[in-house]
Amino acid sequence: MTVRTRIAPSPTGDPHVGTAYIALFNLCFARQHGGQFVLRIEDTDRQRSTDESEQMILDSLRWLGLDWDEGPDVGGPHGPYRQSERGDIYAEHAERLLESGHAFKCYRTSEELDTLRDTRKAAGLHLALKPQDLALDPDEQQRREVEGYPYVIRMNVPSEGVCEVDDMLRGRIEVDWAQVDAQILMKSDGMPTYHLANVVDDHLMGITHVLRGEEWINSAPKHQLLYEYFGWSMPQLCHMPLLRNPDKSKLSKRKNPTSINYYRRMGFLPQAVTNYLGRMGWSMPDEREKFGLDEMMAHFDIQRVSLGGPVFDLDKLTWLNGVYIREDLDDAALLKALCDWAFNEAYVGQILPQIRPRISTLSDAMPLAGHFFAGLPDVRETSFADIDLERETLLALLQFLVWRLEAVARWDKDELLAQVKLLAEHFELKMKVFLAPVFVAVTGSAHSTSVLDAMAILGSDMTRARLRHAIEVLGGVSKKHAKRLEKQYREL
Ligand code: GLU
Repeated sequence: MTVRTRIAPSPTGDPHVGTAYIALFNLCFARQHGGQFVLRIEDTDRQRSTDESEQMILDSLRWLGLDWDEGPDVGGPHGPYRQSERGDIYAEHAERLLESGHAFKCYRTSEELDTLRDTRKAAGLHLALKPQDLALDPDEQQRREVEGYPYVIRMNVPSEGVCEVDDMLRGRIEVDWAQVDAQILMKSDGMPTYHLANVVDDHLMGITHVLRGEEWINSAPKHQLLYEYFGWSMPQLCHMPLLRNPDKSKLSKRKNPTSINYYRRMGFLPQAVTNYLGRMGWSMPDEREKFGLDEMMAHFDIQRVSLGGPVFDLDKLTWLNGVYIREDLDDAALLKALCDWAFNEAYVGQILPQIRPRISTLSDAMPLAGHFFAGLPDVRETSFADIDLERETLLALLQFLVWRLEAVARWDKDELLAQVKLLAEHFELKMKVFLAPVFVAVTGSAHSTSVLDAMAILGSDMTRARLRHAIEVLGGVSKKHAKRLEKQYREL
């Protein structure tokens, strides 16, 4: 048997370090067994999936050196590798389950589903809805069918008993069937859900081992049942521990930058990031901290993964990155790293129009544009001393901007201007007044190039990181305060 693993990201946002971490372990597992590693794009959520996000995911995994043998960009014998291009395959498989009686059409409206759940809740029962709960009386079912009501296709699930699923790290996992609902497989718009598409694709793509995050454990019983319904053997499952913030909470962008773009933009070296991700719950047999991808592949053993939640610690990663710079990069390599990072024509070229009208000598350039070649600027509370706004308003303004920017799909000056205008109106401030603290937070001083252009050039991750940094410097936003702000923000 040829071992085949995969990473199956959904392109719905920034390329997440968690995706890179899972990709790394799948890649190492495949290589250790002389197998293949596949990249599949799970873009069945058409509302949230974007081409930009897909491209960023491919770019960042490649930047980290996590190359795949088959995927949407390189092709392969099991394509297409993008789920949005495999609609017919899922429809055909859903039809098969309908025919074999393992799935059924459900015409329930969302109001009816709410009522069903409320009734179960009031009776102190599990909220999982079973086929018998969902069944309509036969005449009504027929009426809705004839009248062409919208419907979903759901899978049949047992009502009682215990489902046992084997996990490569956790051994036997037991889940009560009572907790498992009659999962939707096809939505009313004809798109498959994750569960159907994922199982069908893993089978058709010959995946033998599924290494994925532990948040998917609850899906395992449904997947196992689907494999049974289709008469296929199931890949071996391995649920990896989730990455955590230093306070042990689930890694979240509130507490740690989670986008690989951020690390790239900050000037981390890909080999250091990959090495650090390899230390997440895993260690080399000799416990050394610094190792290359080749070494990790050569010594890989999934059983060395420990399940205690691995902590993604920015300070440790920064330390390791420094070790790489000092130990591995000679002058030529360091120069190349700097050029790849920011001292290149493409990047500097964007900054030139910003500085040309504002300098008299070439030596004016760096003081003016230095922040484009920096990480977080050295701003302090006093940097905002001249800003004539209450602290409360200042924090709200910066926090609202961070939230707005998180949702921006197209990162360009026009879009940024539109966001800023909207918020300035909300705060009833003139644009100039609104932008003053943003200027300090983003460029680090009160004198630099245009802040909207700077944000466009710095990109989403660096801009947001600088705004968040300013919020911290100004005393931060407590949990309680954030809740209050969120409420106001929602009313925007
Ligand atoms: N599309 C899922 C994700 O975004 C894949 C989960 C899996 O590996 O089964 O993580």
